[in-house]
Amino acid sequence: MTEDPSAKMSDIMPKSFEDLIKDVHEKDICGECGGCVSFCTAADIGAIEMTEDGPPHYSNKDNCLHCGICYLICPETFELRNELNKKYDFKPPIGNWLKIVTAQAKDPKIREIATDGGVVTAVLIALLDNNLINGALISKRINSFQRIPFFAKTKEEILEAAGTHYDLKGPVPELGNYNTFVSTISELKKIVYSDYMKIAVVGVPCQIHSIRKMQELNIIPAHIVKYTLGLFCYENFKFDDVARAKIEERFKFSFKDIEKINIKDNLIINLKNKDNPLKIEFSDLRDIMRHACRVCENFSNYFADISFGGLGSQTGYTTVMVRTKTGEKIYNLAQNKGYIIEPNELNSSVEKSKILAQIISFSKRKVKRAEDFEKI
Ligand SMILES: Cc1cc2nc3c(=O)[nH]c(=O)nc-3n(C[C@H](O)[C@H](O)[C@H](O)COP(=O)(O)OP(=O)(O)OC[C@H]3O[C@@H](n4cnc5c(N)ncnc54)[C@H](O)[C@@H]3O)c2cc1C
Ligand code: SF4
Ligand code: SF4
Ligand code: SF4
Repeated sequence: MTEDPSAKMSDIMPKSFEDLIKDVHEKDICGECGGCVSFCTAADIGAIEMTEDGPPHYSNKDNCLHCGICYLICPETFELRNELNKKYDFKPPIGNWLKIVTAQAKDPKIREIATDGGVVTAVLIALLDNNLINGALISKRINSFQRIPFFAKTKEEILEAAGTHYDLKGPVPELGNYNTFVSTISELKKIVYSDYMKIAVVGVPCQIHSIRKMQELNIIPAHIVKYTLGLFCYENFKFDDVARAKIEERFKFSFKDIEKINIKDNLIINLKNKDNPLKIEFSDLRDIMRHACRVCENFSNYFADISFGGLGSQTGYTTVMVRTKTGEKIYNLAQNKGYIIEPNELNSSVEKSKILAQIISFSKRKVKRAEDFEKI
């Protein structure tokens, strides 16, 4: 076959980090997930690096191999969209699902510390107890507020990372530039692994999206990720001291009094000495929303094996969407072995329809927000 002489070089060359700068960074939609830096083909010799607060940049442009991997795996590009949609049987706006239920961990110790019903923690412990994983890439608190990526290898470590309660015994740290998003993907490459290793990853939709892209491209070590547990996500927040002071003033509370934060249908803040939580509408938090979230359409984490959220469930329960055969296998295992309970009265067909309706409604709202932003 002869080459088409009219084909431009730019049509033949893979897109590189320069294109990522143009299509993602300059549009102010980089989520600072660290995926491009972690999986850069030239990582060993150094081509790109993270910056302290902002998108990654070239550390040595001459070392860039123009291979295009960074562009392909970035969750903010359209690359591999058709492939993933087909593979995971995506149907808008919430993707494929096999089962939707409301459930909770059977172990009251998990429920006590969990964000919602503790089902994520229960599934992870079931996987570990049954030797289906060697560990789980999650995130854990390092002080009252901040979380870091964490590879948990024991039941105790998984428990330690559950929930969003805050330990306010010590002094509240200076938050500085605070981000509710935790860049767990950048940790994946640091895990010392063998090809026999099996891990689970917990993440918000953009993180699971990156993992699926890496798996599609067979980028090492994405092959050790056997199970993806996705969290629902409407948006994340990033703010500095000035913005924090504004929020405290606007909503009449102090960060020092926070006991627990939950992101569900609103931002829900439980405060010391207050019976009712403070509920702040997402639309009132636009000025602190991470910029990348404005264009994100994926609320229910449609490429995960199982998705989890608080939306649709009563306090103390987790909404669970089993999506893939792999997800079905591990959820059934956790349920059959007594790690999870699904109360019948909360799982009638009427109740499940209500949960589904809420997930669809939030998903549509998020798609609309992204479309409106694109029009600006
Ligand atoms: C940033 C963020 C935004 C969310 N937004 C929504 C939303 O808009 N609507 C909604 O219904 N639900 C949202 N969720 C999901 C919800 O808060 C619960 O995580 C979910 O319902 C599971 O509850 P659980 O009690 O079963 O989880 P748990 O048993 O408490 O386990 C939660 C697990 O998630 C891990 N984790 C916590 N934070 C992160 C993080 N940033 N990155 C990776 N792993 C993490 C923990 O280490 C733990 O293993 C969000 C979660 C997060 C982290
Ligand atoms: S070497 Fe490849 S992955 Fe690394 S910055 Fe260049 S194009 Fe991106
Ligand atoms: S969103 Fe992630 S992969 Fe994309 S440019 Fe930003 S840091 Fe890199
Ligand atoms: S809204 Fe989208 S981009 Fe923002 S943290 Fe959630 S999944 Fe990531």
